Amino acid sequence: MVDGGRLVLVATPIGNLGDLSARGIETLRTADVIACEDTRRTRVLLSAAEIPGGGRLRAVHEHNEAAAAARIAREVADGRVVAYVSDAGMPGISDPGARLVRACIELDADLAVTTVPGPTALAAALVLSGLPADRFVFEGFLPRRGSQRRARLAAIGAEPRTVVLYESPRRLAATLGSLVGVCGPDRPAAVARELTKLHEEVLRAPLGACEIFASAALPPPRGEHVIVVGGAPAADEATDGEIEVAVV
Ligand code: SAM
Repeated sequence: MVDGGRLVLVATPIGNLGDLSARGIETLRTADVIACEDTRRTRVLLSAAEIPGGGRLRAVHEHNEAAAAARIAREVADGRVVAYVSDAGMPGISDPGARLVRACIELDADLAVTTVPGPTALAAALVLSGLPADRFVFEGFLPRRGSQRRARLAAIGAEPRTVVLYESPRRLAATLGSLVGVCGPDRPAAVARELTKLHEEVLRAPLGACEIFASAALPPPRGEHVIVVGGAPAADEATDGEIEVAVV
């Protein structure tokens, strides 16, 4: 265990409160400071685990990210133990946690940064999809529109590895439609919803059927979703002969 100041990225449940680990609870109980995305949400988590918050909570969210991350890095340099939790899952995966890690490393490359790892929606959805998980690409949230979205979609269309994406319920059908556009309707896929919660569901079907299901759902699908798309068929990959020519 590292002595003195440190930043500890503590994974929290993505739905089921029972998934907060014993080491996560101990770290949150003993940290000098608890940095979090949303103090109200974190207070709910702390009170469910019977951990006193007191005045230890500091908000780091998209509107104050740079300044708050720099302030917290200085607290770590001053010898404090700062635990960081995001709204859900593994801090640093599509949330301000990554900024906080960079701020510490930039302030002093020797500052201790460690983690209590745990649940993350991307790993849960990937393994439940039944699609190959030995090699995969995590795309997070796609840009909402414009040339950046088109470029990312085109790359996904040609990607031979399994692709994992996050999406909000409001944009789920539109994104599945865009994916059908670049991958075709027959590409194997899965949509995982409300993972670890009471209404957990995994729809495993060709991409076109997933889109029809999401577009036809009335009322529109609720809750949090992960989209998993099978890789482009081998015929689209370079042949051994082509690779040999390319590397000579
Ligand atoms: N740090 C988190 C993690 O480790 O998974 C992800 C944070 S990101 C801001 C939130 C997105 O994660 C949601 O929009 C959804 O795509 C996905 N997500 C989080 N919890 C989920 C759950 N219980 N079921 C399905 N998807 C979930």
